[in-house]
Amino acid sequence: MILKALRDWRERRAVERRAIPDALWQLTLLRYPFLAQRSEADLAELRRLCSLFLERKEFHGVNGFEVTDEVAVAVAAQACLPVLKLGLGWYDGFVGIVMHEGEVVAQRRYEDEDGVVHEYDEELAGEAMEGGPLMLSWNAIAVSNDPAQFGVDEVFNVVIHEFAHVMDMRDGLADGVPPLEAAERERWIEVIDAEWARFCERVDAGEPTLIDPYGAEAVEEFFAVAVEAFFVAPAAMRSEEPAMYALLAGFFRQDPAST
Ligand SMILES: [Zn+2]
Repeated sequence: MILKALRDWRERRAVERRAIPDALWQLTLLRYPFLAQRSEADLAELRRLCSLFLERKEFHGVNGFEVTDEVAVAVAAQACLPVLKLGLGWYDGFVGIVMHEGEVVAQRRYEDEDGVVHEYDEELAGEAMEGGPLMLSWNAIAVSNDPAQFGVDEVFNVVIHEFAHVMDMRDGLADGVPPLEAAERERWIEVIDAEWARFCERVDAGEPTLIDPYGAEAVEEFFAVAVEAFFVAPAAMRSEEPAMYALLAGFFRQDPAST
């Protein structure tokens, strides 16, 4: 009891210290309409989690990019949505968030069958690695909800995508299966494998999909892009991918299409 009281007190102090000013909070909701459509109770909890997130994480701007309060709150608000009912403990595995203004350049290295090592740079909107840091491009975040860039019917949200990877990798593996109880895990694999196969067929057939077709690359990517659609366009996701919607609603303990 004493420990819990101490933890609650520390959390309250942190929330006060990192309180998000009203004007900035309203601006963030305006910019990310999928946040604004949540209930009052959800938004109050989201705002509280954001303060704790800002207290626990360290932002670093690369090449002179300035991580303003606006940038930090935009990341925090979107990152905290998936863990709204699960708690920030899911993100305990890392502290640093590296912010780039433009593309994130990741150095890749692989050895081919002749033993020759190849090194090259890959440009990304963001990248999550086990143990962190998490890397994000501000430009990619800023265009996330711009229909002119991504089409009204296609979801793109780099913050939710990378934090979905963080949750997936919490058990050490990026495999589209977050840590679950054994029985739940079996069912999860059954559903996601079947839904991913169906999704790949649709993408192969050139059908337009709400979920980013990038999900056809690998099952862990399918998980991350499905999570994006679940939070950004829940009603459309529920009608297009009812089985994935139900799986994610159970996992996140949220039903955003019904609120
Ligand atoms: Zn990814």
